[in-house]
Amino acid sequence: MTIKEIERCAKILKELKVPNIVVTGGEPFLRPDIVEIVMLLNDYGFSVRLQTNGTLVTKEKIKALAEAGLKDITISLDTLDEKKFDWICHSKNLVQKVEKSLDILAEYMDGFIVVSTVVSRINISELPEIVKFVHSKGAYASLYPVHMQPAENTPGFCLGYSKEMIFLKYDLPEIEKVYAEILKMKKEGYRIINSKLFLNDSLEYFRTGNYTWNCKAGERFFVIYPDGGVASCDLFPPLLNIKSNFLKEFRNTEYKESVRRIREGCNGCILACWRETSLFIDDFATKMEQMRLYLRKKTGTHHK
Ligand code: SF4
Repeated sequence: MTIKEIERCAKILKELKVPNIVVTGGEPFLRPDIVEIVMLLNDYGFSVRLQTNGTLVTKEKIKALAEAGLKDITISLDTLDEKKFDWICHSKNLVQKVEKSLDILAEYMDGFIVVSTVVSRINISELPEIVKFVHSKGAYASLYPVHMQPAENTPGFCLGYSKEMIFLKYDLPEIEKVYAEILKMKKEGYRIINSKLFLNDSLEYFRTGNYTWNCKAGERFFVIYPDGGVASCDLFPPLLNIKSNFLKEFRNTEYKESVRRIREGCNGCILACWRETSLFIDDFATKMEQMRLYLRKKTGTHHK
């Protein structure tokens, strides 16, 4: 999308009273005009978060992005083991790069720096160490489970992760032990952005394989692809295009019926970006918990 097309989208999203936009990819730092995009979205009043693999973060870029109004950023880190992470991401020296990026982010950004970790068979025992590392960088850990037993023919599931990462039933005792430790660390004030409810839902998913939830995909949130296609979430194909007659079609009953049918046909998911953020809206206790987290951040009263 060109910057002009992004501005047209911003106007439409403003009319829908969308509060938050996550700019993701691919890799958003590959866009040479990323600062301009963030500035534009910030000027329209959206709360903007960037989601990055952290490899292209530089001091100059982050300083410019912070000045453009960027407050929150999410960076991926699945393990502290350099070899394993390079294997997962088909990259080189990625842990070092992420660590360097986190130091730069801590220097220039005052919003939430979130480190997102896909919890899988190959990093489960490391989770407390990952949380401690993230905490030591002044960032917040976000843990979400790899889907446990993907049906071979379910499109989108397993999300491209390798089979070695998928849990087996006999991994459950270790998962239980590690999640108990994570919940304890959260109580002690470690910077863990997941709510207690999401961590418990994750554990329940590991126990039962059930990932159904009260999803409002397509209405409460949706995805806009680079060609303007609008999908209810990133696991389903676009139903509309933001470049053509979007507002009228988005508001009509035919669209609402289509997204309802998609949700009914979906087995669910435990993707933090959709499920966790919905909890902040639907669950009062989670909303209060998040407010306490904001307060801890503001007053510097996280675990020392
Ligand atoms: S539960 Fe909702 S967000 Fe998750 S995959 Fe299904 S439609 Fe998408």
